[in-house]
Amino acid sequence: MLKMSQNLVGEFALEYLHHFYGYQPKPDRRKRAAASRDDSNQTGFCDKVKKMQRFFGLSPDGKLSEETLTVMKKPRCGLSDVEPHEGAVRWRKRTISYRIAGENLPFPASRTHKAIRRALKLWSSVSLIKFRRRAAKEADVGIAFVSGGELYHGDGFPFSGKGGALAHAFLPGLGIGGDVHFDSEEEWTLNSTGISLPVVAAHEFGHALGLSHSPDPGSIMYPAYNFAPSLELSFDDVKRIQHLYGEPPPKTPDKCDPDLSFDAVTELQQEVVFFKDRFMWRKHPSFVETRITLISSLWSDSVPSHLDAVYENVEKNFILFFKVQQLMLQEGFPRNISDLGFPSRIKSVDAALHFRRDRYTVFFTGRECWRSVTFSHFPSFSLIWLFVSCWDKFRRDLKFNL
Ligand SMILES: [Zn+2]
Repeated sequence: MLKMSQNLVGEFALEYLHHFYGYQPKPDRRKRAAASRDDSNQTGFCDKVKKMQRFFGLSPDGKLSEETLTVMKKPRCGLSDVEPHEGAVRWRKRTISYRIAGENLPFPASRTHKAIRRALKLWSSVSLIKFRRRAAKEADVGIAFVSGGELYHGDGFPFSGKGGALAHAFLPGLGIGGDVHFDSEEEWTLNSTGISLPVVAAHEFGHALGLSHSPDPGSIMYPAYNFAPSLELSFDDVKRIQHLYGEPPPKTPDKCDPDLSFDAVTELQQEVVFFKDRFMWRKHPSFVETRITLISSLWSDSVPSHLDAVYENVEKNFILFFKVQQLMLQEGFPRNISDLGFPSRIKSVDAALHFRRDRYTVFFTGRECWRSVTFSHFPSFSLIWLFVSCWDKFRRDLKFNL
């Protein structure tokens, strides 16, 4: 009985490594390969197990441990983890057409199409690629929901349940190239419970655009399904797609956009300045209109975009710019914010507020507020940590100061 189950485990692992890691056992020994010892099959098999373990961040001992098998049994993408294709195959045009086949849709057509659009938008919003839906039969990316029972739905890659493939896609190209197939027998959902169609679709469209799998669990291109998924690209995903299709030019933010938020706001001399990405709006008391300009137009390239916080200390005549761990100003900068007296656990400043009349600054970091108490020896002034309950006091001060 035990031997039987070991054989089944071996068979399962063989299939998995064959499909996702390119393991090729010798035909006559295929069935015995996982159990046999000291032959070339076994060596090759162990190497592939190690490769898979390394990819998923497991200890690479080459053994089919419980942990390794648990990862192998996770629902995942049907594509291999060892395709060395990235960068080699991509669409040579910027507008890609797609078509959704009408059969076996997991939701009513309008909701299915909306989920697909959300997934496509994830990629088109960060690169120069555009998607256009076509009702006609011919489209670059053909999207289909195929029944797991259909052994060969025209491509030789059935959804048999082994290895738990949810979907697969084909790299950019003619014919089947760029096509995406979903297993229609999965329990698809439209949110983050169960198997999320927008999340899996975003992953597969990554392949359809030419991306390979990423070993980073935070990447949308991680091959195993992450059961707490968010429909977001990681920094690396964005960089990889931009490498293939270019980066969109920065868009001037619209000050009337109801969803507009600012990176930082501060008073600079007579003006109130609002920062957003590479831009800033300047509100001068003598003018009704706010004026938009590039940050670099005032401070050339010494001040980065996407700031965390900014404030001006009028008495000491300096402006501090915060961005992650750094602050920037003239010579000797950027410096670590620990130079300001913050403990090392504080990695960034969300906002800074300088009270001109009382000559002190309040820093906001996560749920904490910090206040500078001595201000005469910048940059080594000391800070005291303030409880958030002090906020009422700040609100009273704010009324007088702003
Ligand atoms: Zn994949």
